[in-house]
Amino acid sequence: MPEPPKTPMRYLSGVQSSGRLHLGNYFGAIQNHIRLQDEGDCFYFIANYHALTTVQAAKELEKFTFMVAADYLALGLDPNKALLFRQSDVPEVNELAWILSTVTGMGLMERAHSYKDKVAKGIAPSLGLFYYPALMAADILIYQSDKVPVGQDQIQHIEMCRDMAGYFNNTFKKEVFKLPEGVLSEAPKVIGLTGGKMSKSDEDSVIPIFGEPAEIKKKVMSIVTDSKGVHEPKDPDQNVIYLLYKLVAKPEEAAQMEKGFRQGGMGYGDAKKLLIGKLEEVFGGERREKRKKMEEKPGMVEDTLVASARKARRTAASTMEAVYAATGIPCSRVKKEILELKTQNSGGSSG
Ligand code: AMP
Repeated sequence: MPEPPKTPMRYLSGVQSSGRLHLGNYFGAIQNHIRLQDEGDCFYFIANYHALTTVQAAKELEKFTFMVAADYLALGLDPNKALLFRQSDVPEVNELAWILSTVTGMGLMERAHSYKDKVAKGIAPSLGLFYYPALMAADILIYQSDKVPVGQDQIQHIEMCRDMAGYFNNTFKKEVFKLPEGVLSEAPKVIGLTGGKMSKSDEDSVIPIFGEPAEIKKKVMSIVTDSKGVHEPKDPDQNVIYLLYKLVAKPEEAAQMEKGFRQGGMGYGDAKKLLIGKLEEVFGGERREKRKKMEEKPGMVEDTLVASARKARRTAASTMEAVYAATGIPCSRVKKEILELKTQNSGGSSG
């Protein structure tokens, strides 16, 4: 008997369009996203609704949204293998977030670390920021995702998403949602230039993936170090230069820097130069050229986002039908007409 065909694993992840993508985004999540496009069914979205909690200027938000798409494509995302779309092109996620919020206790929401961390950093404590985990749960559940490849900072949100899926299934006594799992990369918490986590909300902490060489050089050269001389032994595990170098260098090159720091002989200035060289080797050259070409072809980037969104929206619509049936919210003629109209106008690419 031939084995029945296996359903491919569905991977889902999002990146906010709230600034330039940085090394933390790449090594914490995007590198995994691109690798997984050869392994499963991949849905990646640009989280512009989420970004609206911090970027509240239309042109900026549009610019960052384009930049995230262009970065992904330059880094190797293949739109024939993985979907890359704007969160806002599937507005049903907001509807689902609301429905999930009606079965979610305040206690769960109040435990979210990310909200407290962001407010501590000075981000306005808006209702949207507080509600973020509900929208993120909807982002994941609406596509019936199995795995969510993210950085460490998102793991609690995935736990919350599992809780919300369970509350929904229990309340409405239907297994509408499966419980997704987080997937961490080998670098789930990339250190920033200022010593904490590299984060878009702190420009001084980031090395942008596609920053100009002069900017990257300036940023690396300004990493603050202690005053130990070249020949003194130093602890590489507490050293931003080494920790970032380890991400971009070959294992033997990283081992050599580590040895130089531990034994003495490796100075901070030389280590910074090695890091700058490696960053250029990994993200410069062909990738930077490709990224520049994206700027010249905004129409192509837009077409990619739209084609992916059509497919994603169809998957979302089928989940929403099950949600409507379970809750008693009707999938009325009006809703059906809108979804079908969109499909007809789009030329009906297959999903
Ligand atoms: P965000 O920039 O918050 O939209 O994050 C996009 C993705 O990058 C998420 O999966 C984050 O967990 C991941 N990420 C962001 N910053 C870092 C970091 N410093 N180290 C590892 N992963 C990160």
